Amino acid sequence: MIADSARHSKPLPLLEGERQHRMYIGGEWVATAGDRWLAVLDPAVLTVIGEAPDGGQGEARSAVDAAAAAFSEWASLAGRERARYLLRLGERMRESSDDLAQIITAEVGKPLRQARDEARSAAAFVSWYGEEAKRAYGTVIPSAQRDKRVWVVRQPAGVAAAITPWNFPLGLIARKVGAALAAGCTVVVKPAPETPLSGLAFARLAEDAGLPPGVLNVITGDAATIAQTWLADPRVRRLSFTGSTAVGRLLVRAAAERLPRVSLELGGSAPYVVFPDADLDKAVDGLSRGKIRNAGQVCAAPNRIYVHESIADEFVGKLRAMVDRVRVGNGVHPESQMGPLINEEGYRKVEEMVAEATRRGAEVHTGGTWVGEPETRTGWFWRPQVLVGAPEDCAILREEAFGPVLSVLRFSEEAEVVERANRSPYGLGAYVFTRDLNRAVRMAEALDAGIVGINDPLPAAVEAPFGGLKESGYGREGGAEGLAEFTEEKTVSLQLD
Ligand code: NAP
Repeated sequence: MIADSARHSKPLPLLEGERQHRMYIGGEWVATAGDRWLAVLDPAVLTVIGEAPDGGQGEARSAVDAAAAAFSEWASLAGRERARYLLRLGERMRESSDDLAQIITAEVGKPLRQARDEARSAAAFVSWYGEEAKRAYGTVIPSAQRDKRVWVVRQPAGVAAAITPWNFPLGLIARKVGAALAAGCTVVVKPAPETPLSGLAFARLAEDAGLPPGVLNVITGDAATIAQTWLADPRVRRLSFTGSTAVGRLLVRAAAERLPRVSLELGGSAPYVVFPDADLDKAVDGLSRGKIRNAGQVCAAPNRIYVHESIADEFVGKLRAMVDRVRVGNGVHPESQMGPLINEEGYRKVEEMVAEATRRGAEVHTGGTWVGEPETRTGWFWRPQVLVGAPEDCAILREEAFGPVLSVLRFSEEAEVVERANRSPYGLGAYVFTRDLNRAVRMAEALDAGIVGINDPLPAAVEAPFGGLKESGYGREGGAEGLAEFTEEKTVSLQLD
């Protein structure tokens, strides 16, 4: 229920207008032709914090027109020239990280400190790709024939489209856009409807940083229409999507017609394996950082916590103590350590999954009851919860919980836990806690995951590729691999006289 849809918070920083915020196309701030708007809610207090245009086919096409018009000039710049723009944008983002954090917290509900971390990490991606723009190296291949010379160059792919979810509304845009712009692509972006304002604030800073008109375009509105328009347009050569596996599948089917290259950062159900020789306090602390962060709404968040049977009781006791200390509340309050879930749908999904698991024998050790925002009694808050012994075919273990539910399972043998961990159709993140180096190496090699943290609950980094295996998608973001996604490799063969 919306507590008071007429009451608006104070104007958000970086965005002009108290209520209606425009899209950024071809260097202009525009509304939709039909004056249609989407309301954006603060998930902690359920008030409207602003509106974004409800764009559709026309806006999607205009954005591609602008990006295509800007492409040849942007692509022809030397890497170091593009670097200057990106480094300036990264700097502007760092200077504005408090303002960006306010927007992120207002839209997603995460505590301000986590929102600030996201803003700084987003800035780091843009700056890192600024540096990397200078290093889009090709290769020289020794020809099998003495009168030929062969080399491979990397060229910008063309217009790149990005569609992003709400859980890291700035970070996920920055890592796609940073890489695409560094590669020499121009970009069209559609943020999630829950969090369009972070994307529009990013466009505002790109404008401040002097990015030429059309190089970055951010539009908001109907996802399916916008995606279809982009996938049908031959000028769009890349689609970089982050979101659910279900939508990823739809996009791959739609792309089959014209075959733009699609990269997919999809869902996960990460195993978190704790061996008896692990530092248990560190393993518990890892879950406070990996699973309480953003109320568990993180694609690579630990979802199946496998604990060796010899330490399981002790571990659950420590986990429960950690979870009971978490201060849940509106992210704007400095003492809050965890905010609400994004909306009622997210809340009901967690509720249903937990109900199924308990019906089938899982024990709730703590948490889970509704905690409304203390002042207004609103918001879709879920108290961090420890759940022990759910059958592994329960939805909460098969799918991603996308909530702060810590599901503990017991195991006895290394080979057995590898087999159980790899039974999932997903393969995004995996975590191992052990002090045995040989076991650490064996586990890292055996687990089906695009990224493995050994005694490390937050292994993703700007300089390293991140992405999934199996139904968690394909393609990589971050590192040199992230830039390569937005280039075409072209082989040149020269016949000498
Ligand atoms: P989602 O429902 O798949 O939505 C993601 C984006 O896709 C939104 O912008 C959404 O817009 C759009 N979308 C929805 N239907 C579409 C369609 N038919 N065609 C084109 N676009 C469409 O996912 P979400 O619930 O926002 O985000 C959570 C999911 O993202 C989780 O599964 C999580 O694991 C995943 N995720 C993955 C990573 C990673 O790096 N692997 C990172 C973060 C999140 P509308 O809502 O307007 O439809």
